[in-house]
Amino acid sequence: MTEKEANLSKSFMDQISPKTQFKKNKINGVKKIIAISSGKGGVGKSTIAVNLAITLKNLKYNVGILDADVYGPSIPKMMGLSEKPKCDDGINLIPIKKFNIQCMSIGFMVSEETPMIWRGPMVASTIKTFANKVLWNDIDFLIIDMPPGTGDALLTFSQEIDIDGAIIVTTPQDIAIIDVKRGIEMFKRTNVKILGIIENMTSFVSDDGVEHFIFGRNGAEIISKKFNVELLEKIPIEIKLREDSDNGEPFCEFKKNNTITKIFFNVAKKIIKNLN
Ligand code: ADP
Repeated sequence: MTEKEANLSKSFMDQISPKTQFKKNKINGVKKIIAISSGKGGVGKSTIAVNLAITLKNLKYNVGILDADVYGPSIPKMMGLSEKPKCDDGINLIPIKKFNIQCMSIGFMVSEETPMIWRGPMVASTIKTFANKVLWNDIDFLIIDMPPGTGDALLTFSQEIDIDGAIIVTTPQDIAIIDVKRGIEMFKRTNVKILGIIENMTSFVSDDGVEHFIFGRNGAEIISKKFNVELLEKIPIEIKLREDSDNGEPFCEFKKNNTITKIFFNVAKKIIKNLN
């Protein structure tokens, strides 16, 4: 290295050094942004995003759901949506309304065949599009179904968008719990308030009334105590929850008096309290 190269100017050093401060963007037309995240895929993050959105809507709030899971967008299927959003002015996307919820999904823009390798680089531009070019209409709560893990996608989201609070979804299993620890750390470092953890697939009650702890026990309780994060609720394994998701008929929209619908109602009340 020459002497000249060693004496780089301060302004140049500022340009190339890693950023510690980020300008987080609000989303037009949205009052509160809630991120639903998970350390890994398949733990029920999207199922919870959809049913929480339905529950908040049933509580008479204006709700939007943004499916930002670049690696496996599943909101169109879970909400029973097959149409594409309109773009009347050639610039801004109009969310699709279903069950009185405004919906936008990365899944509307990429086909299921789009390889992961292309989806990765799309993250930054997608986030900008979602933040600036979706015509959300007077939304109280925007639920964002985040990409799983603590990789680039989630990091970019947490740095670029002014998230009011994050919910972390986990199963009681060890490996999911390790991923949760990473998620908590990442939100803390990017100054995103953690509203709490939801433990999904806690247990399965068979027809004879016996409760089976298929994915282990008490994992979320341990995390909750260790990191001082509220354990919001535990959701059991319920076959109808899976079937309804597959059929595009969100459970909480159609089964108003079920125990699981009441669990989601409790989650909604707790997060509204924790957001204040
Ligand atoms: P993720 O978004 O974390 O990848 P999903 O919400 O897509 O996970 O859920 C993965 C699968 O598990 C889906 O088939 C979903 O219907 C099912 N599922 C999620 N939660 C439950 C539950 N509590 N009981 C039964 N099936 C569930």
